[in-house]
Amino acid sequence: MADRSTPENLQTSAEWQSGRSVAQVILKPRKSRPFLARHPWVLETAVAAVAGAPADGDVVDVFSDQRAFIARGIINRRSHVRVRLYTWDQGELLDAAFWQRQLARAIGWRQRLGLLTPEGAARLVFSEADGLSGMVLDRFGSHLVLQVNSLAVAVRLPMLVPLIAQLAAPQSIVVRSEGGLVKVEGMEVPAGCVWGQAPEGPVQITEHGIRYGVDVTAGQKTGFYVDQRENRRAAASYMQGRRVLDLFCYSGGFALAASRLGGAAEVLGVDSSEPAIQWARTNAELNGITNVQFEQRECFEILDEMRDAGKKFDAVILDPPKFSRNRFHVVEALRAYHRINRVAVDLLEADGILVTCSCSGSVSRQDFLDMLTGVAAKSRRSIHLLEQRGHAGDHPISLACPENEYLKCMICRVV
Ligand code: SAH
Repeated sequence: MADRSTPENLQTSAEWQSGRSVAQVILKPRKSRPFLARHPWVLETAVAAVAGAPADGDVVDVFSDQRAFIARGIINRRSHVRVRLYTWDQGELLDAAFWQRQLARAIGWRQRLGLLTPEGAARLVFSEADGLSGMVLDRFGSHLVLQVNSLAVAVRLPMLVPLIAQLAAPQSIVVRSEGGLVKVEGMEVPAGCVWGQAPEGPVQITEHGIRYGVDVTAGQKTGFYVDQRENRRAAASYMQGRRVLDLFCYSGGFALAASRLGGAAEVLGVDSSEPAIQWARTNAELNGITNVQFEQRECFEILDEMRDAGKKFDAVILDPPKFSRNRFHVVEALRAYHRINRVAVDLLEADGILVTCSCSGSVSRQDFLDMLTGVAAKSRRSIHLLEQRGHAGDHPISLACPENEYLKCMICRVV
């Protein structure tokens, strides 16, 4: 596969190919410490001066105000993340060999985790945690979805795509990006299939023996929430014989696992997205699972309706979308989490199971737990934490960049 030519929609560009630094970024006094500790985002507020005239996407060296070398990275003056750091070794160039090493290490780690099964779904690259700031790569069987989150990665696609193809030998690589990030990074990202043949229909994956169709071009995010893989299995282990409500169910991940792996008596999955509900139904059929129903509804509405009607369940799963985009919205987000968790608790029979998740990175684990404590107090029920979970081993969190931690998944017994 390595000898395939570069696709036409990826233009090869210039300077950065040697991987050598073309300019020096000097930090302000007392601003070096996070970068010595290997935090990879040099914000514009930390920069005192730039010596040289680098273009956005060029390799630069970052120095302390005392002119000591700290790290080598890639500059983008359009973003407030002015430099993304990739190596702390002054002897290491950010050339093709460098990217290949980083990619090989990332993919090799998932191999060691046993995640590269033919129909498996896994995150092969998780941005900063893999030393590849601004790149997310998900694998769905033999198809890859590359999420481009930085200009540094965007301008290098002509080099990176063939490297990925060579290392992972996929049938296709589909590029995706998020509008908000495209704007803040000021980058151009090609959309769609940039390598091989895009799948015509959904890609089949298998997770814990359950089959799912994944729409890699139009599905949410990269098409499937691989981050919840281990949490689906853990949650399922509490579902035996229970009547389960799976809210914000998307394509049915938790619901189908509750039925097939957990032996739930019956499951109702709810999501407001019509395509999501269609995929969920198709996925249930694909597995011959008949005790799961899916309904397209607004979860906030259906929760209130069910409470008013006195409905009861033995387990409720809450996996809402990100309620807080940044740290300025944390209070509103916590209010929304409180609201849905409060109603969910009211719907639970004695000794019910609550699986409650948050994928808002700006809501800390402690804030989320405090919110649950508040819910317990208001609802006059005891809530016992059974498991405090996060993302799986293919979504590692570098302690140098704790901002990457976003997923909280608490499994609770509501007494
Ligand atoms: N639990 C899912 C992932 C959920 S992602 C899984 O395991 O795959 C969050 C989901 O919430 C998305 O599918 C989105 O369509 C849905 N959603 C967002 N706002 C909603 C609302 N107000 N009511 C119902 N569903 C909503």
